[in-house]
Amino acid sequence: MSNPVEENLNAVRRRMERACQASGRSVADVKLLLATKTVPLEKLQMAMQAGATLFGENKAQELRDKFPLMRQYSEVEWHFIGHLQTNKVKDVVKYVTLIHSVDRLKLGQALDRQLNKENKTMDILVQVNTSYEESKFGIPPEGAAELVEQLSRFETLNIKGLMTIGKLNATNDETRHCFRLLKSLQTQIREQQFPRVEMDILSMGMSGDFEAAIEEGATIVRVGTSVFGQRDLPDSYYWNENLRQDGGG
Ligand SMILES: *Cc1c(COP(=O)(O)O)cnc(C)c1O
Repeated sequence: MSNPVEENLNAVRRRMERACQASGRSVADVKLLLATKTVPLEKLQMAMQAGATLFGENKAQELRDKFPLMRQYSEVEWHFIGHLQTNKVKDVVKYVTLIHSVDRLKLGQALDRQLNKENKTMDILVQVNTSYEESKFGIPPEGAAELVEQLSRFETLNIKGLMTIGKLNATNDETRHCFRLLKSLQTQIREQQFPRVEMDILSMGMSGDFEAAIEEGATIVRVGTSVFGQRDLPDSYYWNENLRQDGGG
C-alpha cells in the first residue's frame, strides 16, 4: 500500500474494535482523535484521505499553520488537547470545537472573556491529573468537582466531560487506575447535578494504553505515534513543568 498512514490507521481501528468487543461496548461509542503535534502536513493529508476526521493539536501556533489545509476538508474537526496559556485563548477558540485541557479557573475566565467578545460558546473538558505526576498538567482529582462547578457558572462554556493522561511508562495496573479514577469522578460529578453540566465524554488513552482506556470507559482516545510514527520532540516539550508560564491560579 502506498499510504503508510492509512495502514497504521486501519490497524489502530482494528485494535479499537477488539477492545470494544472485549468490554461489550459499541464501536460507535468510541471516537478516534489523531494527535498531530509535530506531524507534517503530508501525513495529515494521508490521514484525511484515509477517512480520519477528528484531529487534536497541542499548540496554538501549529493549529494556525495547519488550518488552511484542513479547511479544504469539510468534515474535518479540530480539538485542542495541549496545555493552554491564557494569552493563546484567542487563537485557539477560532479553530476548535472542543478544548480537552481546561484545568484552572483562570483559564475558564480567559475563555469566557474571549467568547463573550465573539458572541460564541465553546465545548470543554476538564483535565484531571489522575497520576499526580508533577510533570503533568490538570487539576488534582480532589479539586475536579469544585472546578467543574466554578466553570459551569460561565454561560459561554459547555462542560461535556473529563480528560486525563494516564500514567506513562507504568505498569498496566497503574495506568488502569488512572482511567478508573477518571470514570469514578465522572460518576461523582454527575450525581451532583450541576446545572448545564454534561458528563458524557471521557477523553483518555494514547498509543500505549488506548485499549485499556476503552475497557475502562473512554469515549475519545487520542492517538499519535501509532498512526504517524515517532515524533522528533520529546513529549516533555509539551508537558513539562517549565512550560507552566501562567501558573495555576
Ligand atoms: C501527544 C499526545 C497524545 C498522543 O500520544 P501518542 O503516545 O503519540 O499516541 C495524546 N494526548 C495528548 C494530550 C498528547 O499531547
